[in-house]
Amino acid sequence: MKTRECDYCGRDVEVRDNLSDNIAVFCSTKCRYAKKKLVVYTSEGCFKCSMLTSWLRVREFAFEEKTLDTEATADLIMKNVVVMSAPVLEVEGTFYTEDQLFDGTKILADQLLEILEG
Ligand SMILES: [Zn+2]
Repeated sequence: MKTRECDYCGRDVEVRDNLSDNIAVFCSTKCRYAKKKLVVYTSEGCFKCSMLTSWLRVREFAFEEKTLDTEATADLIMKNVVVMSAPVLEVEGTFYTEDQLFDGTKILADQLLEILEG
């Protein structure tokens, strides 16, 4: 075993001796996810938006919340994201719309974790 620093918080992590230095190491799943840039676009009084943000908070994902006002909507349209309804989740520049995140009023947790981990 050798010791590397967590790529997010710098804490020591024990890794296999033959692990390539090019591979990022993290001390916890929390740190792994924290490296990803997440933005949640929400609108006021949106039920699914609060479901999504609390789902992320409970699992300790760090994210930025942006209100889907005229400016943000225009920005998304510029990026070819068709905004039918909030929330929209941005992961490292890829956009996921409400219909990809929810089945009715249920969060597609497995799918979401795959998006966040992948
Ligand atoms: Zn860490």
